[in-house]
Order: sequence, then structure tokens, then C-alpha cells
Amino acid sequence: MALRKHGDFELELNTLRAKPMTKIRTCAPCKKPEMSPVSHVIKPFHSVYEYKCPNCGETTEIVPTASIGVGVTVGGLALTFWGFILFWGPGYPSVLALTLFAGAILALLAIWVPEILKHRLYPAVPNSSAPLNIPSQGNKGLIAKLIVLIEKMGFLVGLLTPIAFIMMFLGIAALIGYINFTFFE
Ligand SMILES: [Zn+2]
Repeated sequence: MALRKHGDFELELNTLRAKPMTKIRTCAPCKKPEMSPVSHVIKPFHSVYEYKCPNCGETTEIVPTASIGVGVTVGGLALTFWGFILFWGPGYPSVLALTLFAGAILALLAIWVPEILKHRLYPAVPNSSAPLNIPSQGNKGLIAKLIVLIEKMGFLVGLLTPIAFIMMFLGIAALIGYINFTFFE
């Protein structure tokens, strides 16, 4: 067995980082199914692929569906919580509070509806795969690895991920509470 050089390992790590699932997409203006990812930037909460059409030069930025799912759930939970506080209590919410709440709903829609529409405008070619030839840029930490892992999955997994995290968090909190109560009271 050949001795592995540090460089090899580094290269493998880079391939792993640059290997999130990507597909070829159909270009909206020229309809050619030839758009490939030319860059992948990992932002704090999701990543963005830039696609370029070799035929007409059109470019577009695509957020993976799983991350759209995470964004929709997190936003939806925050709004539900806010709405609950707003409408559950005694009396009527003020006009200002209602305006802010409506504004937040519109902001959530303004963020995610265009991202969803881009997936429709530039549909992925079924069963295609487009390797990204350059390493992913941006955040390289644990969160980035988690983002890339989740983004290999679909919209539904994305929608459920925040709920799974909350359950895990509550589970750990309950366990700590239980241990504390059982052994240290
Ligand atoms: Zn094109």
C-alpha cells in the first residue's frame, strides 16, 4: 500500500467539499439544457450555486431546495410563535404590531418565493449530474459541512431539519433535567 501524502488527503477533502449534488439546468432564455455550476459559495445559513449557460451566457444563482425548505420552516416557526404571542393574549394587538407582523410575512415571501421560482425557470435536467470543477468558497467550518450535507437532500428533508434539531435540543435538555433531578436533588 502506497504511503498517503498529506497533499492527497487535502485533495480528497477538497473534492468532498466540492461534491455537493448538482444537476445540469435548462436555460430560461435560450431553453438549452446546458447550464452547469461555475461557482459554489457557502453563506452563513445556506449555499449558492452560480450557473452559467455556455450557449447564451445567461447566469443565475440557485439556492439548493433543502436550504429553501430550512428557511421556510424557520421563518414559519418564528412567525407562528410571534403570531401566537400577538393574538393569544388579552386585548387586541396594536396597529403597529400588526403592521410589523404583516411586514415580516411579506419579507419571508419576498425572500423565498423568487428562489422557488428560479428552480421552475431553470429546471434541473432529470438524472443529470454536473460536477463542480472548483472548490467551494466561503465558510469552511462545521456549520458549512452541515449545510453541504443537508443540501445533498431534498426540499422535504430541509423542511423537517429545523424541527428535528428542535426535538434533539429539547430531548437533550429533558435528559439533562432528568439526570439532574434523579442524581443531584
Ligand atoms: Zn442560454
